[in-house]
Formats: sequence, C-alpha cells, structure tokens
Amino acid sequence: MARTRKIVKSSVHRALNQIGDRWSQLIIQEAFRGASRFEEFRARTNAPRNTLSSRLRGLVANGILEQRAAKEGGARQSYHLTPMGLDLYDSVLIAWTWGIRWDATAPNGPAGLIHTECGKPMLPTMVCRHCGGDISLHACRHHEGPGAGIEEMEVTRLHRRRQSASDDAAPPIADVVDMTGDRWTGLVISTQYFGIHRFDDIQSALEIATNILTDRLRVLVANGVFERRLYEMSPPRYEYWLTKKGKDLYPHALALLLWAEKWLLKPGEEPPIIVTHRQCEQPVDAAVVCSECRKPLTPENVTERRVKDRKAVA
Ligand SMILES: [Zn+2]
Ligand SMILES: [Zn+2]
Repeated sequence: MARTRKIVKSSVHRALNQIGDRWSQLIIQEAFRGASRFEEFRARTNAPRNTLSSRLRGLVANGILEQRAAKEGGARQSYHLTPMGLDLYDSVLIAWTWGIRWDATAPNGPAGLIHTECGKPMLPTMVCRHCGGDISLHACRHHEGPGAGIEEMEVTRLHRRRQSASDDAAPPIADVVDMTGDRWTGLVISTQYFGIHRFDDIQSALEIATNILTDRLRVLVANGVFERRLYEMSPPRYEYWLTKKGKDLYPHALALLLWAEKWLLKPGEEPPIIVTHRQCEQPVDAAVVCSECRKPLTPENVTERRVKDRKAVA
C-alpha cells in the first residue's frame, strides 16, 4: 500500500524506493547472471513464491524488467532487463565488489570476478569519466543542486529488514545485499555523506521511526560499517561515523544516484544534489572499469570465479 511523506529531495531516495529491497536486489542480480524464468529466479534467490511474484510485478511496473512470452503463443512468461534495468549493472558490479572485498558476499553470490578481455581476476573499480581518477567518498564533494528542496514522495512499504533468528540476541551478520538492498539501511548510510552523525539529526533528516533507526544502527555497528564515538559522558551519547568498510559503500550509493538522475528525474526537473570530482572539478560521471587493465566492464565481458579458486586471490 502506498502512502506519501515529505522528505528532502534525493535521487538516492528515489532509487531505493524502487529497488531498495533485498528480494528486488537479488532478482536484478540474477537477471544479470542469466535468469529469466520464474522458477529460475525462485531456485536462485530462495524467495517465497508470493514474494517473488510481487517483486517481479513491482520491477515490471517500475520499468526495470519486461515480461515476454517464453515461447511464441505460450502462456509461460519470462522476465528480461529493460535498458533502464541494464543500466543498473554498475551498481550491481560495485555491490559484488564490496561483498568480495569485505567477505560479505550474499548466499550464492559471486565469490570472485574475471574480466574476459584481459583474462585476469579483478575487482571492478569506479572511475571518473572526465579525468580517469578513482572515485571515493573523499574524492568527491557534495552540494545542493538546482533541484534541491522538499518533496512529497510516495513511499512503498518495503522497509522490513530480513529477520533473523538472532534478532533479539546478537545482532545479525549482514551480507552485501543487506547493506545495498535495504531501503532504510541505504538512507541511514547516505546521511553520512552530508555530515550527519547524531541519532536525533539522522532521525529528523529521514523522518525514520526510532525503532527502525535503532535497529539499522545496531546492524551497521555490529557489521563494522559504522563506528560509535562518544560525545557526551552522562548520559553517554554517541555519534555514528563510517569506517573504512563503510566508506567503501560510497561508489554504490553514487552509482544509484547517477542511475536515478538518468532514469527517475521527471522532465524539466533538476538534480537535487551535485557531486563534483575534486581531482578535475567536473560534475561526476562515473564508469566502472577493470582494476587490472582499466577497461570498461559490461555484462558480456565479466565472468565469475568458482568458489574453490577464491583462496588464490584472497
Ligand atoms: Zn574527474
Ligand atoms: Zn581487465
């Protein structure tokens, strides 16, 4: 059921509103790995049938997947990435990279990647299209764009994090999809890019419920994405800061932002946030390249390493 709320305009919000859900992320990833039939998605994601149906419907409605008859005149449907969906490849590559680098790959996720053009095991790397320099949180500057402001947005109710049996005891170990495929987790992380570190400030920036924010912060700290810093002794109060592992999620957020600006801005609408690459002072336009030969990566020139090869690169 859709409801609306007033929030600070952000392209990342819009992207996460469409694909910020664990199942949607897994479906998109499997579509890039060749899945197209309902049963294939089901076997590869382990999604319950109803959940899978509803997420596939949502991705079709949002223009990320399109449905085709699997056989001429047949009743069976298959699902394929549209140009808008194919354009999510950079964000998928960056998510895989983060999972591999930080030992947080999703179940059945790629354990390593090979660039078939140079033949080498590699890690996809985000670079600036203008100057070729690497892109990281510190290499970029953020300021308000001409489209900054508040907007009324329809918010889909996809905020439930994957529940784990250990929820009440030890915080769950999260994988890359928990970090990149959960709407609230993504939004909480993105407040860091604007220098927001305290609980109350994060809460008011996002209009997030206290219990959801507490839960996400707990997961982010437990998984080494945020670290707590004491700023008041009694009662003890903490600020939340990105760790190195957390900062390494930045290219993923940027990939989503660039995707949203390309596909989700309405006609005549200007971007709410401008990101500048410090090295060349140009508005960021990013490409994802092979860490070994620096050539652009495409779904056609990336293959996966098998799990047993993995130790060799580690
Ligand atoms: Zn640059
Ligand atoms: Zn290469």
